[in-house]
Amino acid sequence: MLVCSVIERAPAPRLRDARLATKATHCCWIALFALVLLLADACSRNPTAPEKPISYVHPPPNGFFPWPQHDPAYSFAEYNQMMEQLFIINNFGQYQGGTTPESMYLHDGLDIILENETQLFSVSDGHVAAILGSMEGQRAIVIEDSGSFGSAWMYAHTDRFSVQPGDPVTQGHPIAIVSFPTGLGHVHLSRVSLREGGSWNSLDDYQYLFPDSFFFYPDSEPPVIETPFYFYQNKSDTEFPRTGSTVVSGEVDIVVAIRDPGEHARDSSGFGDRLCVGRIDYRILRDDHMLLERQSFDFRWSIIPRTPYENSEVAQTVYKFWYTVQTDPPQSYSQIPSFYIITNSSGTEGFSILNPGTQTLCWDTREVGNDGTPVFPNGSYIISVAAYDHAGNQTVAADTVLVQNP
Ligand SMILES: [Zn+2]
Repeated sequence: MLVCSVIERAPAPRLRDARLATKATHCCWIALFALVLLLADACSRNPTAPEKPISYVHPPPNGFFPWPQHDPAYSFAEYNQMMEQLFIINNFGQYQGGTTPESMYLHDGLDIILENETQLFSVSDGHVAAILGSMEGQRAIVIEDSGSFGSAWMYAHTDRFSVQPGDPVTQGHPIAIVSFPTGLGHVHLSRVSLREGGSWNSLDDYQYLFPDSFFFYPDSEPPVIETPFYFYQNKSDTEFPRTGSTVVSGEVDIVVAIRDPGEHARDSSGFGDRLCVGRIDYRILRDDHMLLERQSFDFRWSIIPRTPYENSEVAQTVYKFWYTVQTDPPQSYSQIPSFYIITNSSGTEGFSILNPGTQTLCWDTREVGNDGTPVFPNGSYIISVAAYDHAGNQTVAADTVLVQNP
């Protein structure tokens, strides 16, 4: 979804730890709808010529955009301090939701923890396409790229805008301050693509792309994959009982608990390390023979659809609802995994919109080959799952299941 942000990833009806209580600012659809309905004035003027470039005393590494909190005047020491404090608590594609499956959605950008009132600067050249929202804490500024119409950066939970719709903006130009007074201060930064024929004034016309690759943040820690995996009947909440050796049959959804830690995925106390991975692949083997190799979700090429309803449908396709897998709310929102339904992806070729139609995909243990013989005759199989983060760090984990079809 869009301007919302759950700073805590959310499914707890009761918050068990004091730390959570301050961090768990649940974003709500109501706020979103208010934002959609109560759009403030937006771009009506044509952009004028860009201003002069602003030079950074200590620019980001070559090929990367500056972070929005990077003041161009920062010295080397100030830049290093900013990078030391960089904490991305939620990222693109991450599971968010409450206590109903319908409340699930995919986080569409990067939540960068920053104190309220922190000055933000444009990460790119462009012009102000819109300033949205009327509710404090739910306002956003959208800056469309220069020379690339239909692509923009949206900075949500912002206020005190120093530019107006239509104004040209260069990289490093001050644009707004962080304003999320109801919870932990942060800017929600999204890479947006406007639907064809859409308007920057309508959030329903927005689609969201993977933003990580625009920015530099070291990450040397590979994803964490939990074993054993979970196995469900396809498109169902009926689980194949997890015993010593789980027995499956028919059409199977493979569900794997994964999270991505990293140097900038946690704060100085160690809270965090629960980000969405970049990409997942899996293989099914028998006696060292690979019978199936598939790409699963690849968030680097995924587009998160625009409306809350579509987003929720897609979230229920990518992830198993927390309470389907776990009866209790998480003990802590730190280091919690998400339950990826890895068999629900058709793989990715170029950019594609995540699509609830792929819910029907599964591991069909009754599949037969061209000669009519079963591809997965009754017996033991190894499921091997590889997860990669945006920096390419990789983890592989495996589990064994017994196929037993009548
Ligand atoms: Zn957010």
